[in-house]
Amino acid sequence: MLRFIRAVFDGLRLRCPRCHRGAMFERGFTMHRTCPQCGLEFERAVGEITGGMAINTVVTLAVITVCSFVFGLTTTVPLLPLLLGLGAFAVLFPIAFYRSSRGMWASFLYMSGNNAEVD
Ligand SMILES: [Zn+2]
Repeated sequence: MLRFIRAVFDGLRLRCPRCHRGAMFERGFTMHRTCPQCGLEFERAVGEITGGMAINTVVTLAVITVCSFVFGLTTTVPLLPLLLGLGAFAVLFPIAFYRSSRGMWASFLYMSGNNAEVD
């Protein structure tokens, strides 16, 4: 369990889940194919990007759902600013969370043994 938590934390920090030092991203949204430190292949297949997108979508929708219930039902926040705020969040958060979600997916692949042998 501790290894799983560490791997997820490494994914959020954009570090390699095996050596904990190698950077997952070069700069911007370009992910290294392999770890520059230990050579771990982060995403073996081209379609693996959809795993990170799924994490991104689920987290974004979960936050919007919780915020909708909390602010819509328990406070006196006017509806228009609430909808505008959540709409802006729905556009900006996935962009900001993109790298971390792909990092978390690469960590999941590592922990499940689908991109390399687990140590
Ligand atoms: Zn590494």
